Formats: sequence, structure tokens, C-alpha cells
Amino acid sequence: MGTGKKARLATIWLSGCSGCHMSFLDQDERLIDLAKNVELVYSPFVDIKDFPENVDITLIEGAVGNEEQLDLLRKARTRTKILVSLGDCAVTGNVTALRNAFSNSDKAVVQKAYVETADVNPQIPTYVPRLLDQAHALHETVRVDYFIPGCPPSADLINSVLTELLSGRTPKMEGRSKYG
Ligand code: SF4
Repeated sequence: MGTGKKARLATIWLSGCSGCHMSFLDQDERLIDLAKNVELVYSPFVDIKDFPENVDITLIEGAVGNEEQLDLLRKARTRTKILVSLGDCAVTGNVTALRNAFSNSDKAVVQKAYVETADVNPQIPTYVPRLLDQAHALHETVRVDYFIPGCPPSADLINSVLTELLSGRTPKMEGRSKYG
């Protein structure tokens, strides 16, 4: 980054409400400047099925809650230079981790979510990815380079961190991980 080439940017949506991605979009006209400096190589915003190689920056929304998400997170880590936890669910577990308080059984969680607390038409979907015993903040599973807190983080904060990273500078919220 900072070499004149466009940076390869990815965003991932794990167990979150999409509010962090909405906040990303709230950068509004600053997205035009961002587009001059990045190539979006994987994201819920684009139709690309496989996480690519050689990604410069990956922003990840949501806690990691199931085995499919864990696989994607690990793949993203190995293929990304700078991995960023985007929002409180990714940073701490937040809303997603509320399930940890009442059960570590995937069957009980699915039953509670789709049947016991359903207002209309309670039923378990035909396919639910196999849940992890607990929902985890990202840094409990992989090394995270930076954390952007907030529920959701403000567009200003997201833009500030991206601008610093794309300029080759270090944003103030430096990451730590017990899996370093
Ligand atoms: S941090 Fe807040 S806005 Fe972002 S995914 Fe979690 S609940 Fe939604």
C-alpha cells in the first residue's frame, strides 16, 4: 500500500446484523475516493464466491459462530496481510455472544432461536450450519491486527482507519491477540 497500486480490499459478514456493513456504506461520497485506491475483491457487496489470495486488507463484521464461518475466517487470515475486526460483535462477541449465557448446545440454541422465541411460524430451517459450542470474538481464534469498536462503528472511524492503512500509516487502535 502507498505504492500507487490499488490495494486489494475484502469485507466479510459473519454472525452480525449487517449494521457494520451499513456503516461502511455510510462513508457516502468518501466511497468514491476509496474506490480510486482499492479493488474490492470479496464482500457481501459483490458477487464473488471464493475468498481470493493476496488480499491487503480484510474487514470482518460479526462474531464467529459456526464451523463454516470458522473455516472462512481462517482462510481469510492466511490470505490477508492486515485483518481488522469491524464492530463490537467481531471485537468482543457482543450481541452474538448472548447465546453463550444460556447454552453451549447447538440444538438448544437453534430451538430457542427458531421455535421458542419465534413470534410467527416457528420452525427449524432445513439447513443450519453446525454451530460452535460458543460464539467467539475473532481474536480468540485468529490473530487480529486492528480493532474498530462500536455497534456499529461510525463511518468516520471506518474511513479514518482505512485512510491510515492505505497511506501506509498505523491507525491508533493497534490490535492484540493471545494467538499472535
Ligand atoms: S457490532 Fe452492532 S451493528 Fe455490528 S454486527 Fe454487531 S450488532 Fe450489528
